Amino acid sequence: MALLITDPKLKSWVDVPEGSDFPIQNLPFGIFRYQDQDPRVCTAIGEYVADLFILSEHGFFDDLDLAKGIFQEATLNAFIGQGKEKTRAVRQRLADILDDDLEEWDASELRSFFLIKQTEVTMLLPLAIGDYTDFYSSKEHATNVGSLFRDPERALLPNWKHLPVGYHGRSSSIIVSGDPVFRPNGQFLEDGHVAPIFGPSRRLDFELETAFVVGKNSKLGQAVSTEEAEDYIFGMVLFNDWSARDIQKWEYQPLGPFLGKSFASTISPWVVTMEALSSFVCSGPVQEPAVLPHLAFRGEKSYDIQLEAILETTDGQRIVLCQTNHKYLYWTMVQQLAHQTSNGCAIHIGDLYASGTISGPGQQALGSMLELTQNGQQPLVLPDGTARTFLEDGDTIILRGMCQDKGLRIGFGEARATIHSNAVKA
Ligand code: MN
Repeated sequence: MALLITDPKLKSWVDVPEGSDFPIQNLPFGIFRYQDQDPRVCTAIGEYVADLFILSEHGFFDDLDLAKGIFQEATLNAFIGQGKEKTRAVRQRLADILDDDLEEWDASELRSFFLIKQTEVTMLLPLAIGDYTDFYSSKEHATNVGSLFRDPERALLPNWKHLPVGYHGRSSSIIVSGDPVFRPNGQFLEDGHVAPIFGPSRRLDFELETAFVVGKNSKLGQAVSTEEAEDYIFGMVLFNDWSARDIQKWEYQPLGPFLGKSFASTISPWVVTMEALSSFVCSGPVQEPAVLPHLAFRGEKSYDIQLEAILETTDGQRIVLCQTNHKYLYWTMVQQLAHQTSNGCAIHIGDLYASGTISGPGQQALGSMLELTQNGQQPLVLPDGTARTFLEDGDTIILRGMCQDKGLRIGFGEARATIHSNAVKA
């Protein structure tokens, strides 16, 4: 029997602990490695991964007309490329298999053959990312950065409310949660100097963002409208756009971010589908002045996703740096995609489109150290009394994301990385 996956009453026969990010209503997709096996496609349920390759070998997806071998791939691209009709059918089938009303199979037998504890597997970068764009879609963040880097009078530049500002980033340095981040070398000015020096960044920062994954190709010369955009958006991940503020400040004019950003970006390993997030659609900020017709959209296109960034230090201190929400973003994902393709630029399966730092109203909702410390002028005080302006070697940043309402919780897991000294890499 087909179950409505978003129904909060649905329960799995797999134990899902209270507060888990991965109830039966989520069923995100990822790529895992177990022992010396080749990478495989999986979903998450409670504290387990479910091996989709094993399920397919046992015929569980036989009637879904899927391409051969798509669950024994090192990335999700081929699976996502099957199209939403089929990826939805796979999620539906997984819900049928994992539902506690399951009658056709003996659950105790099922458990042993396709579930593995998440602690026993390695989650891999789930996508072959062709192109990566980073937008700048939080009005609060753009205003804060504009005030710090230029001046409060011209914080938002004249174009900002007319188009979702963005830049093309480097997909080659996108890494998965758990991978180390190395402090980058670069050129920057020391305070009071006019000539730059070259060396390890002294102002290493995180940016709390999300990114959406493209699930359908467009053609060169084709504009994807805001109306069509959701067909092209497969799902979302957490995204930490590591930033070297000193390098960024020296290099960014007139063409925008470059080496201060392209040394590392960390994503969470689970791609949460737009279907799983569908219960959390909400309205966003009022866009005033009205946008041009090609960026106009109908209905609610924002998402109520609670986000937080946590700092862990080498000596075991742990503090929540910020708590914000995806719904604060001024520009929606359908507008970002419509803008990206409005000149005919093609998008491809596996492309990643990041939101830009998601800040919100209030001191607690600032998604970067740059904003939290006013560019280092107001240090954060840690529990042991020591201060942080920017991030130090050994610091770990953990991003978390979660939708919660009426007994339903859809989580993203985490995007975690520890900063290593530049010397470690050499
Ligand atoms: Mn960014």
